[in-house]
Amino acid sequence: MSRGDLHATRAESPAPWPLRDLDVGALRRSGVGPVPFRQFVLKVHSRCNLACSYCYVYEGADSTWRDRPVRVPPATMRRAAERIGEHARTHRLSSVRIDLHGGEPLLGGPGPLVRYVDAVRAEVPAGCQVEAGVQTNGTLLTPQALTRLATAGIRVGLSLDGGTSQHNRLRAFHSGRPSWPAAMRAARLLAEHPDSYAGVLCTIDLANDPKDVLNSLLELRPPGLDLLLPHNNWTVPPTGVAPADPRKLGFPHSRATPYGDWLAEAFDLWWEHPEPSVRIRLFGEIIALLLGQPSATEVVGLSPVAAVVIDTDGTIEQVDSLKTAYAGAPVTGLDVRHNSFDEALDHPGIVARHLGLDALGPECRTCPLARVCGGGNYAHRYLARSGFRHPTVYCADMARLIRHVSDRVLAEIGDSP
Ligand code: SF4
Repeated sequence: MSRGDLHATRAESPAPWPLRDLDVGALRRSGVGPVPFRQFVLKVHSRCNLACSYCYVYEGADSTWRDRPVRVPPATMRRAAERIGEHARTHRLSSVRIDLHGGEPLLGGPGPLVRYVDAVRAEVPAGCQVEAGVQTNGTLLTPQALTRLATAGIRVGLSLDGGTSQHNRLRAFHSGRPSWPAAMRAARLLAEHPDSYAGVLCTIDLANDPKDVLNSLLELRPPGLDLLLPHNNWTVPPTGVAPADPRKLGFPHSRATPYGDWLAEAFDLWWEHPEPSVRIRLFGEIIALLLGQPSATEVVGLSPVAAVVIDTDGTIEQVDSLKTAYAGAPVTGLDVRHNSFDEALDHPGIVARHLGLDALGPECRTCPLARVCGGGNYAHRYLARSGFRHPTVYCADMARLIRHVSDRVLAEIGDSP
């Protein structure tokens, strides 16, 4: 896509903010500088061996994956690694994080993953640490593959919907065969190799009881757990919720809080767990933010998001979750063959993730929870033909959870000697 095409796309944008209305030039002139990327999501394989019914990549409106190479070609791998090295040198980065994703990244075996990470390590300047991980559905993780990944210093994260076959009923192979037996073997294998186990990523399904989900996942002995809200927005709201225009709701609004209730119950189980418990990122981040620390995740807080995606064809994209907003939402019009990552730093969609409170809509800017909530996950703020300057569609749920965590933490501090 040429620059001209890109500007035409912005003019007709389904997301006027930030694509049309965020004036990056004016921001730069006013002294707001770019925030370098530190996290590079590298797509290794563009297909998946599962057909999860809720998958936003393959079942959603964005079908760009069909036009992408199935496997990342070696030349693209080398060029992406050179660009990461260039970026690390330009910004004197002391570390970068590489996240290997798909589709299912292990569909091509561990070899391409190891080669991609090796290529990046060869390109970054001396003294720049490369932390590498792969996010997998686990079905192809053999002991041999894990040994190869561990030798290359690549840690493994598992995507699950809980720790039982029932929780994972929507995660099936294309034939309809359930994936759980194979995923469970991977979880057991990783539990035997804690140094290689990055943790479990679990999207909340209200049909699953929080106690069952948490207890069954803890039995898999992950070092960390991420509980994620499903990717919805004001135009495509969560199941059972009517689409709404947040500008007409008035804030705080009194919508039901099923996800906030689910998460509050999960928090209590975690908080009251008798043994030293697994790290649950969402809860840990909220507590840290309540105590005045900065956030280290994109789902809460106001810290800049420093992640960028490189697809199997070398295109430079914004985070995948934007695909749930509208087809093509992650597009920047840039690719590693022709463009540096510094050019991507001036894309309005990327800049919008660096502005903290200034990126939020009026409801959030005056909200007493804004410093902790941060407006919620950026993808969940979307309203068609308006864009991303709105509270998250889970606003009421986030408020419920944050107030609950705050009450529990304050009670604990008050009780301490
Ligand atoms: S999304 Fe978060 S910051 Fe915005 S109004 Fe709702 S609770 Fe407050």
